[in-house]
Amino acid sequence: MTPDARRPYIAGNWKMFKTAGEAREFTQKLLARLPMGNGVELALCPPFTALAATLDGLGGSEIKVLAQNMHQEPEGAFTGEVSAPMLVELGVHGTLLGHSERRQYFNETDRALQEKIPAALGAGLQPMLCVGESEDEREEGETQRKLRHQVQEALERVPDAQLADVVIAYEPIWAIGTGKVATAEMAQDAIGFIRALVGDRSKDAAERVRVLYGGSVKPENAAAILAQPDIDGALVGGASLDPDGLIEIVTAAAAQVQ
Ligand code: PEP
Repeated sequence: MTPDARRPYIAGNWKMFKTAGEAREFTQKLLARLPMGNGVELALCPPFTALAATLDGLGGSEIKVLAQNMHQEPEGAFTGEVSAPMLVELGVHGTLLGHSERRQYFNETDRALQEKIPAALGAGLQPMLCVGESEDEREEGETQRKLRHQVQEALERVPDAQLADVVIAYEPIWAIGTGKVATAEMAQDAIGFIRALVGDRSKDAAERVRVLYGGSVKPENAAAILAQPDIDGALVGGASLDPDGLIEIVTAAAAQVQ
């Protein structure tokens, strides 16, 4: 039985998909079809340009809205970047940080994440830290070394008392957008290891921190993954672009709390 604080969490990462108008249309369909009071925390992560429309479309619902990235400084000469206070002013609830696509294509570093995570927490935003190994690293038996490095570096400046306010998403890079999903056992092993890493800092935080799986989660495979004892939810890319697909995944998560 997971502690109360570990309410199942499903987050939909839209990546660079959906205009503001498309986001608004999505929220209308989602609100019309999503069973309320399902016990699952749900978040949408639209592009910056669709944040306001998504927030507006969701109205007073409990569904959260997360950005996909954030700069660590509150303001400054950083062309093209967006800061925590800017997100807070919009009413955004949190932000993805360290998604593998940001690391791979935009040089996101563990060092920057060390500043971004405390900056998000300090502004009252929920950080969702993404970590995961490449296919080569898994084949070479380097998965745990990579996860240890990413988790320890990124959380270094987070006080123990705030560790459980960070959500961690384990996303093996080889499973993102490829249709190759990790087996439920592989995901459980890696996520159990991540929880133990948090436990090296604080046993209490390890009990309470939510660790999600991400990588080709679909309505067909969600239940097996979400049934694992250390897996508290899913970060969903492709399948979150369709409200019905997302609702099926939320329903699979809701079955875990019955
Ligand atoms: C993601 O973008 O974080 C992701 C897991 O994508 P997908 O579900 O499409 O693999």
